[in-house]
Amino acid sequence: MNFFKEADVVVIGGGIVGTAILRELSKYKLKAVLIEKEHDVAMATTAANSAILHAGFDAPTGSHKAVMNVRGNIMFHELEEELNLDIRWTGSLVVATSDDEMFSIKELLARGKANGVQGLKILSKEEVLKMEPNLQNVKGALWAPSAGVIWPFTACVSFAECAVQNGAEVLRNVECLGFVKENEAICGVETNEGVIKTKYVINAAGIYSDVIAKLAGDDSFSISPRKGEYILFDKAVSGQLVNGIVFPTPTKKSKGILICTTTHGNVFIGPNANEQDDREDRAVTAAGMDEIIKSARKLIPDLPLNKTITEFAGLRAVSSTGDFVLGKSKINGFYNAAGIQSPGLTSAPAIAEYVVNELISEAKYTVKENFVKDLPRRKPFLRMTNEEREERIKQNKLYGRVVCRCETVTEGEIVDDIHSSVGATTVDGVKRRCRAGMGRCQGGFCEPTVALILARELGISATEVMRSKGKSPIYYPKESR
Ligand SMILES: Cc1cc2nc3c(=O)[nH]c(=O)nc-3n(C[C@H](O)[C@H](O)[C@H](O)COP(=O)(O)OP(=O)(O)OC[C@H]3O[C@@H](n4cnc5c(N)ncnc54)[C@H](O)[C@@H]3O)c2cc1C
Repeated sequence: MNFFKEADVVVIGGGIVGTAILRELSKYKLKAVLIEKEHDVAMATTAANSAILHAGFDAPTGSHKAVMNVRGNIMFHELEEELNLDIRWTGSLVVATSDDEMFSIKELLARGKANGVQGLKILSKEEVLKMEPNLQNVKGALWAPSAGVIWPFTACVSFAECAVQNGAEVLRNVECLGFVKENEAICGVETNEGVIKTKYVINAAGIYSDVIAKLAGDDSFSISPRKGEYILFDKAVSGQLVNGIVFPTPTKKSKGILICTTTHGNVFIGPNANEQDDREDRAVTAAGMDEIIKSARKLIPDLPLNKTITEFAGLRAVSSTGDFVLGKSKINGFYNAAGIQSPGLTSAPAIAEYVVNELISEAKYTVKENFVKDLPRRKPFLRMTNEEREERIKQNKLYGRVVCRCETVTEGEIVDDIHSSVGATTVDGVKRRCRAGMGRCQGGFCEPTVALILARELGISATEVMRSKGKSPIYYPKESR
């Protein structure tokens, strides 16, 4: 058989879980390759979620979800520095608006303590309103000081780039289509590019992780999509709604519709939780918008809906087991990091550690002495002092040209993001890395310029630059107009 590549371990899926696993694997003396079917990492659930680094009081004590959440939260406190991550450690509130809900948050407190969450306490109405003066109908709240909010796209890219810095490989536009086996053990991954020879596979394919497992012969779980929709407000309303993370008291199905200020100062409301069969439908719905507005109004009746800048939706990968599906499967050489619904973002580094430890204890690869855990520092132009800006422009004059006015993103930052080791290849890829197009006008002003910069830097014509997935050009050839 002809192989187009050889690896010791192939990771399937370039979301936060797959890229965290790739980085963990790159600490060992082995060849690790990640394949992602889309043109970029962080294209599926990792791109559309609440971005909360949960404290860990929600999941049942002893479940993978609970253990990985608490450990993942601790790990992110270390990774923030190593990977230069964008995190605001705001703490979170679960607000009760009735006596019944006060009872529920006391249950959450007890569960959180059993899960090992530090610093939890019940706050009085007055204490809550001191922190979040715009909330209405408050009786009290559960305060979790270890929670935070992260920028998930660059976290995912940073895991991938740190892994590449340590010898791993990220192959985009490469889709797993099946497996090659010998004596019932994995010996290759079939892809649209050909077969990758390997002894070990880690399945981190998100909403498709059951499909991948079945292709390998593991039918121990299934995944069903559960949609969550959001409304994102302009930064102009920051300070008028909430300062940190505010949850309502949770329901059986979800943590409820929260109100949160992101790492970059936008407030969002969402998500709802609605089951669907379609694994690709991420469209927002009028009914969904009504549902989240109605729910958020219980805590903030006067929502500035005229300051909405975008709506979006993400799909939770809900596992039939009710928990994360982690570790060695019944198929030799096949490991799962599957069914990773919330708190999967928070749990990702802990999941990576858990699954890779299992694989290493079987495969006996040894630790690399020269693993480089830190990524080079990069400070966004927006956050630089005037002196730092002047210095940067002296070094590279492209930093003197602001391309995205809403978010103050320079041409220098865009070019750096295109040429980094897991670089942007589309307009959305740029947007997710340095935020050009993320602001008030949502790219209306800068998208055409970003597309031209991509064309110049990638050596392709402007008509070949895509906005995002599939055929989504911004410029059309003259003859097609
Ligand atoms: C509405 C919502 C809110 C959430 N809020 C939070 C939160 O606040 N905090 C938190 O901790 N978690 C949260 N989560 C959960 C978190 O977002 C997910 O657990 C996490 O992003 C899952 O990452 P993943 O890498 O497993 O999946 P994904 O990000 O979906 O990545 C899987 C990747 O596999 C690729 N793939 C699939 N099939 C193939 C194939 N055949 N070949 C190659 N590649 C393939 C896909 O293209 C995709 O890129 C939320 C989720 C949702 C939907």
